[in-house]
Amino acid sequence: MEKVVTRFPPSPTGHLHVGGARTALFNWLLARSMGGRFILRLEDTDVERSTQEMVDSIIQAMHWLGMEWDEGPYFQSRRFDIYNQYIEYLLQTEQAYYCRCSEAEVEAMRNEAWQKGQNPKYDGRCRNLGLGPAPDRVVRFKSPGQGETMFRDMLKGVNSVDNAQLDDFVIRRADGSPTYNLAVVVDDATMGITHILRGDDHLSNTPKQVQLYKALGFDLPDFGHVPMIMGPDKKKLSKRHGALSVLEYRDAGYLPEALVNYLVRLGWSYGDQEIFSREELVDLFSLDRLSKSACVFDTEKLDWVNSRHIKESPASGLAVRVQDFLAEKGYPGVDLHYLQDIVPLLQPRAASLKEMAELAEFFVMPDNRMHYQQELLDKYFNQEVIGHLTAIRELFQQLEDFSQETLENTVKGYLNEQGIKFKLLAQPIRIAVTGKTASPGIFETLSVLGKESVVNRLGLLLKSLSIEADEQ
Ligand code: GLU
Repeated sequence: MEKVVTRFPPSPTGHLHVGGARTALFNWLLARSMGGRFILRLEDTDVERSTQEMVDSIIQAMHWLGMEWDEGPYFQSRRFDIYNQYIEYLLQTEQAYYCRCSEAEVEAMRNEAWQKGQNPKYDGRCRNLGLGPAPDRVVRFKSPGQGETMFRDMLKGVNSVDNAQLDDFVIRRADGSPTYNLAVVVDDATMGITHILRGDDHLSNTPKQVQLYKALGFDLPDFGHVPMIMGPDKKKLSKRHGALSVLEYRDAGYLPEALVNYLVRLGWSYGDQEIFSREELVDLFSLDRLSKSACVFDTEKLDWVNSRHIKESPASGLAVRVQDFLAEKGYPGVDLHYLQDIVPLLQPRAASLKEMAELAEFFVMPDNRMHYQQELLDKYFNQEVIGHLTAIRELFQQLEDFSQETLENTVKGYLNEQGIKFKLLAQPIRIAVTGKTASPGIFETLSVLGKESVVNRLGLLLKSLSIEADEQ
């Protein structure tokens, strides 16, 4: 069987957004699932709008999502000689011609046709003039004009267009640059692309491309046009709907495997399974499970998928990632072994790495920077509680083993001896060591935080309370 070759050809005129990333993923998965090859190509023929910054940003986003490519990145801006060879061939075989009409003239033709109730298009007035090259001339493809252009779409079935609808479209602009339709066909054909999956916003370009394939004597690849991602209002997804670029999701604390999982599920399904690892996706991906209808982007579901991946990821990997988020919060270089002990306590609670770093903050904060809110002090600490905490601190200080179990037994023993309920002390202890009223289980928190910090923090809090009492 012919080897599958797919491609992702973004234009570096903006960051990689979720729509583009999903298209890239489908192509990447198709290649990986079939043992084929995946090519990255930057369509930067629009020199005014393409920037190196966006090239770098797209490449970074591809790496972050783990979509490694086997070939490329190719740059269309470096391939003008190749496009020109094919344009020359079309000119020589009289399948293309020079046109001297200005943009304003073409616009006027379109308006006229429109007013007559016809399809607005270029009327072909330079087609038979036998014009040669000159500075302001574009090259147009001689569209067949009659008959039909047909292709089979892997998702939408047979697609057919009346050729009378299509005009002699431009293949080389006056500035010498090839147009998208010409460059994409030459590249896809010469790079041996077998399958093209892209958004159905390109559906109207495909008949023109099919005509170029035929004119150039190339075999057609298999086309599949996937429905666009919609916002909740059923309009094409955009920033307005709160959708971010791939790198913004990275910075907001999403795991790449979660974003990959979520995006692939937006338009592909496997029964009602929601959570997939990257390996599972590669194993299970197949074209016949791509959806034919549009999908709605749902940030809440993405958050849910992210929290599921956070729960299921190994703590060691998460620790490395949370380390970066903590560095951003002003805690650089937190010890990874320490973080690996902290992470399992937070996995059930954090919906993102950013949230995990927030929840981990009290663990990594120097003891003397702990800050206690006055209203918590007023609510939870009276003389009786202060007395018990002083005693508990002394008991903790004597412990050699600071495991969760020992801590639990020590506190229970004290409660029994004093005839008091844990309820009286649970929140005061929690507030003393975390500064907050909510945290992971108190004994596991104490154990991970360690004896030195726990004893220090209890001491600092008791000291500040006694200073307060003295001042009153
Ligand atoms: N550069 C085009 C885009 O970003 C590629 C379309 C295609 O896949 O042919 O939309």
